[in-house]
Amino acid sequence: MTPSDIDRELAQLDAAFLKRVRRTPDNACGPEVVLQGRPLVAFASNDYLGLANDPALKQGAIAAIEQWGVGAGASQLVSGRLAIFETLEQRLAEFAQREAALFFPSGFQANLGVLTALADRHDVIFADKVNHASLIDGALLSRAQHVRYQHIDLDDLANKLKNTPVGSGGTRLIVTDSVFSMDGDEAPLPALMALAEQYDAWLIVDDAHGLGVIGPQGRGSIADAGLPPHPQLIMIGTLGKAAGVSGAFVAAGANVIEWLIQRARSYIYTTGASPMIAGALLAALEQILQGDERRAQLQRRIAELRAGITTLNLPFELVPSRTGIQALVIGDNVKTLAVAAKLLEQGYWVPAIRPPTVPVGSARLRISLSAAHTPGHITGLVDALAKAV
Ligand SMILES: *Cc1c(COP(=O)(O)O)cnc(C)c1O
Repeated sequence: MTPSDIDRELAQLDAAFLKRVRRTPDNACGPEVVLQGRPLVAFASNDYLGLANDPALKQGAIAAIEQWGVGAGASQLVSGRLAIFETLEQRLAEFAQREAALFFPSGFQANLGVLTALADRHDVIFADKVNHASLIDGALLSRAQHVRYQHIDLDDLANKLKNTPVGSGGTRLIVTDSVFSMDGDEAPLPALMALAEQYDAWLIVDDAHGLGVIGPQGRGSIADAGLPPHPQLIMIGTLGKAAGVSGAFVAAGANVIEWLIQRARSYIYTTGASPMIAGALLAALEQILQGDERRAQLQRRIAELRAGITTLNLPFELVPSRTGIQALVIGDNVKTLAVAAKLLEQGYWVPAIRPPTVPVGSARLRISLSAAHTPGHITGLVDALAKAV
């Protein structure tokens, strides 16, 4: 690509209403944000439990800074695994009810690390078509054969498992988001586990949007589905969403975690996260485990929003979801942007999600709810939506 190619491509994106712009809030993450001096009610973050600006987490980070400083100084394999990370990994393993856990600086890195450590060109990765970009990139980077099955379609997956030969020395991996990030719908984990067992395959579950929100004590989608530990079941939990901080972990059998330490390049060749992250996360885990009231609050806001939108009788699908992700599918890019702009005029910030993040023709408002929203925020949004469409 030459510089003039770039200029031409950027102009094309702009003309197709596909150019992304970054909005820059003037205050901390929360339901009420200030954008270029304008107060707005935001339905845009993944801070589902309202922990991102919570005093207990801030205190955890401050205490960690006082004891450990702000930088780890090196990758975790060299000298950057300060003892607070060992504590964090023990708590994460307990949280996931697995033998061991490994902390990564981000979910993107965790997904790249797991897929490239477990799969190579002898293996076949079976992936839901709408999996997160980091799982797609991890599969590509692994050089495994990448077979994408229709979204949540168990028959299609079973057919593909049956009809895709795996050479000697090769293995199968089934890879899925638990809660899909643009729809809020969910993968059928018990059925996927049964298929994994039938084909002696790994099941890798990215629980970015389930962790903290569903399951007993917010332990996530695998706990919610009641799946017991299994040698070929791997959970990836991200910690920048309901947990309110950043980073991610992989929870699995001890041998899998030991293998990742040896082979996951996105773990090995990156500087260890700041100890303040670990301090904040230790506090976040306590808040999640004791967070039944926050989860109940989130469920009340979800019910209020869904009831409110249903009474508007809009000609758009509100995708069924019991999670913080509530998607109103409008379809056309320009129309979706126009509705989002009209909401913004009335003081409501709801992201318009367009291709390539979602399939062509399914542009949508992604209304993201938090336990920190009030009933007034929700009724205000529903009224604004009535006017905007
Ligand atoms: C956000 C997200 C990730 C990436 O996690 P980060 O910690 O933000 O890098 C991975 N998978 C899914 C499904 C996500 O929604």
